[in-house]
Parts: sequence; structure tokens; C-alpha cells
Amino acid sequence: MTFHDKDSGASGVIVLHSTTLGPAAGGCRLWHYADDRSATVDALRLAEGMALKNALADLPFGGGKAVIRLPRGAFDRAALFQAFGRQVAELKGRYVTAEDVGTSVADMAEVATRTCHVAGLPVSGQKPGGDPSPWTALGVVQAMRVAVRQRLGAELSDVTVGVQGLGHVGYALCELLHEQGARLIVAEPRSEVAARAADRFGAMVMTSRALLSARVDVLAPCALGGVLDADTVAQLRASVVCGAANNQLASEDMAERLAARDILYAPDFLANAGGIINVAGEYLGWRTAEVRRRVLAVGRKMGAVLALAEQNGITPDEAARAMALERIAQVPRGQAVAA
Ligand code: NAD
Repeated sequence: MTFHDKDSGASGVIVLHSTTLGPAAGGCRLWHYADDRSATVDALRLAEGMALKNALADLPFGGGKAVIRLPRGAFDRAALFQAFGRQVAELKGRYVTAEDVGTSVADMAEVATRTCHVAGLPVSGQKPGGDPSPWTALGVVQAMRVAVRQRLGAELSDVTVGVQGLGHVGYALCELLHEQGARLIVAEPRSEVAARAADRFGAMVMTSRALLSARVDVLAPCALGGVLDADTVAQLRASVVCGAANNQLASEDMAERLAARDILYAPDFLANAGGIINVAGEYLGWRTAEVRRRVLAVGRKMGAVLALAEQNGITPDEAARAMALERIAQVPRGQAVAA
């Protein structure tokens, strides 16, 4: 559904890609879009990714996504997210929202004044909640460890990782990789953040463009999607690509191009599932220990995807899609899935 709220200036789209496994769950992105069409196209792709991600992570959720067009000039942020909350409320629980690029815990607190179908709210007590990004980073590390063992026969302490984008997830990922002993090369347009990473983690700083052809073992895209296109795939010198960004492949055939260059691509919708697992835990009332158990299991799932890919001579991306679609297909029509 599209929405335009004159008073607050909130304008965007909510996409419910699938509700077979449960309510369509996926974050809300606030971003610059040239027009309604480009916002819708982005939301459609992101919602499909969420359907695959939620299925593969064994969550009782379908896939959805909301995109709000960033208003030009000054705007009342609280009013904008309250207006969005009213749209979510209208869907009566068929869509559950949370943070994504451009939105924060404070924004979700505004949404929560209008609907209860929202997560990523301020943490209360020992329960899951808050910014999902550290959980996303933890899941990426699990997937990366398995991918590095499989492709390079090495541990994270032996490798150099190029992290593109030091936002909520990318910076947290650097912290975890630094703890594991990995060497880091980073690219981030906010120079003060890049400088902090250089200082704290001994990271080398490069431009984003240079990082894509840098001599790294692993490339971790953690900025926006579409980074792996024909040009960048041809330039890569990494043996593994494993990061948090959604929709890293500019088109699906890039998975084959990566495989043809013997580059192991960890499907993004598997590697970055940690955040939605935390969101699910908050919404469904799990304990933090359960969220942690499930996020750590991203590594095991990555192993299963790589085994299926090898068995069938297909790419990890195809194997992960097949596993996700098989889970969705197993649910008899109209039957709810237990958490
Ligand atoms: P964020 O907005 O906090 O961070 C993005 C960072 O990328 C910013 O620091 C920005 O300055 C930087 N950036 C922008 N263009 C760049 C470029 N060309 N080169 C290098 N850096 C660039 O977003 P985030 O929450 O960290 O999410 C990052 C990615 O991971 C997004 O694609 C998001 O959809 C995906 N993701 C995030 C979560 C989560 O829990 N936050 C979960 C799943 C997927």
C-alpha cells in the first residue's frame, strides 16, 4: 500500500511480499528517492529479501518492508513516524515494522505511539529490543567464519577483511572482527568515523571504490545494496564476500559470475539475519539467550547452504533461496507456524 500524509509530509509504501509463515516482518527505510516508482521498486525487492531471510532463519514471519521518502528540507520527524505508525496500524498486524537504514530506536518509539506492531523499541530490562545492528553484526561474523573455513581453510584471525560502510552494523562488525584478530581495511564517507576505526582497530582506510579492488581475503559490504555488478565483480580480489548490506547482487546472475571467479558469496539474506532474529524475539517475547542461540546458528545454516550448493552444483545464493522457498512451501495454506 502507498501512503501520502499531507500534514506530516510522510510519503511512501509498505509492501507485504508474503504472509504464509506469519505476519510480513521487515524494517522501515527512510531514504532519498527520486520518485514514488523508485521507492516502490526498492521496497518490493527488499520485501522479497525479507521473505527469504525470515524463512531461512526459521522465523514465524513472512516478508515485508516499508520505505518512506525522505522529505526535502526540514520536517517534523516525530509527526512523520507517527503518521507512518497509523499506516502500520491500518494493516492490523499483517505487517510488523522495525528499524532499517535511516531510522532509529527513537523513530520506532514514535511509531509505537500509534501501533503495537513494531519492534526495535528501547530495551527494557533483560529482554531483547533496541537497535538490532549488533545482532546483525554477530550473525555476519558466524557466516563469515564458516565461509572463510570453507573457501580458504583459514580462521578469521588469519584474514584481512575489507568493510564497506561503518554505520550501525559495519562498525559493530569491525569491533567483533578486531576481537577475533582479523586485519581490517575500511571505507566510509564520514571521515571522522573512518578515522575512529583506524585508531581503535588499526584499520587501513581507503575510498569505497578502491576497497572493491583491494587485496583483501574477505569483502564485507555493509553500506547500501547493488554493490556487486558486472564491473565490481570483475575487479574483486577477495575470495569471500560476506556482509550485512541487503540486496548486494545488482542482479541475480551476479551470483554465477562470482562463482565463475571462484569467489564464495555468502547470501546476504542469510548472513544478515541476526537483526530480524532480535526483532522477532522482541515482538514474540523470547529471552535474550534464545535470540543469541538463534543468531549463533546463522553459521550452521551457512554450512548447510554451502553443502547443498556443492551437492547440487549450484551457487550458495541458489541453494539458500531453494531452502527458504522449501520452508515456505511446506506450510499448509492457512496454517500458522509455531515460533
Ligand atoms: P547505516 O545507515 O547505519 O550505515 C550505512 C553506512 O554506510 C553509513 O555509515 C554510510 O555513511 C556508509 N556509506 C554510504 N555510502 C557508502 C559508500 N559508497 N561506501 C562506503 N560507505 C558508505 O546502516 P546499517 O544499519 O549499518 O545497515 C547497513 C546495511 O546493512 C544496509 O544495507 C541495511 O539494509 C543492511 N542491514 C542492516 C541491518 C541492521 O540491523 N541494521 C540488518 C540487516 C541488513
